[in-house]
Amino acid sequence: MNRITAVRERGAARAAKSACAGTGHFARLVAAGIMLGVLVGCSAGPATFEETRSLMGTYISITVVETERNRAEQAIDKAFSEIRRLEHILSIWQEDTEISLLNRTAQRVPVQVSEEIRRLTETSLEVAARTDGAFDPTIGPLVALWKITKRKVPPSDEEVLQARRQVDYRKVDLEGDRVKINGEGTTFDFGGIAKGYAADRAVAVLKQEGIRAGIVSVAGDIRVFGGADRGTPWKLGIQNPRGPGLIARLLMDDGCISTSGDYERYFEYEGRRYHHIIDPRTGYPAAGARSVSVLGTESVYCDGLATGFFVLGPDAGLARMNEQGIAGLIVGSDGKLRMSRALETGYRIELTGSDPP
Ligand code: AMP
Ligand code: MG
Repeated sequence: MNRITAVRERGAARAAKSACAGTGHFARLVAAGIMLGVLVGCSAGPATFEETRSLMGTYISITVVETERNRAEQAIDKAFSEIRRLEHILSIWQEDTEISLLNRTAQRVPVQVSEEIRRLTETSLEVAARTDGAFDPTIGPLVALWKITKRKVPPSDEEVLQARRQVDYRKVDLEGDRVKINGEGTTFDFGGIAKGYAADRAVAVLKQEGIRAGIVSVAGDIRVFGGADRGTPWKLGIQNPRGPGLIARLLMDDGCISTSGDYERYFEYEGRRYHHIIDPRTGYPAAGARSVSVLGTESVYCDGLATGFFVLGPDAGLARMNEQGIAGLIVGSDGKLRMSRALETGYRIELTGSDPP
């Protein structure tokens, strides 16, 4: 999908119409059940330019508020190029990416990695430690086994057990710019932080290009900036994990929200749902939560933590959030919604119930 919308020339009324078009786009994405939505505000002002492309196996939307069409289009294009660059480094499904090369080599010898992979490795190990290993960047063998988008039948217990034994972030040694994996068959998968990192990088590129306000939305990982600059905060919605509509709305000038959910990628077998977030302790899709959202300033952390807290489930997840002062919201498998203290006190959030907006 490749679409850009912008109307500016006719002034405020048309600009407002263009901004509202973003809301329709949001509705479609939510209807498709694939992402946490962005409600683009409908106030008058400079034009809103928006483009959606399919990259990293999902739909990515970039919205910027700009007075010059050329600058907007060029900035959006460069931000997408940056995300494409990341896909070619981080995908475990392509053989020639830096991560695939690392996965083939680092069990035998320490591998010198780029500064970017070094930082991502460091960040992923930090998120693993903050979630008691529920987020585990060495989840590779289990992700490869479950291959959720292709499977129709779950793997055998024996296969799960074997793959599970290979997953353990404590087997990773990061020394300077060298990565060593002390485990046969243990491999990285940065799928739990890659989209958030992509949102961070895309925002950095937009800012370098002179854009002062915008939204980057990589499936469930959304980062906004410049709400104050455009005179009105961004309005974000958190999708109901079961059915249409939103469970909460929030206002944000600058920051991010990441949502992990069991409704994003899954198959059903004999009445059970098997989704894409795997509990490294059991080797099976994590039980206990339907969706977890984490709010903060950097998407790479929000993304990783949302995945980790999803695995921990409502009780342990909420406890960790509160201990660490993290803003987040968990919908348990009982359908009950729980908010962390930092979310209640530090954000402008309004619960809508599970009714459609
Ligand atoms: P997210 O949608 O951000 O929660 O990330 C889900 C993706 O992260 C999956 O598609 C896997 O690639 C990867 N993943 C699954 N389970 C875990 C886990 N326990 N820790 C880290 N990454 C995971
Ligand atoms: Mg994540």
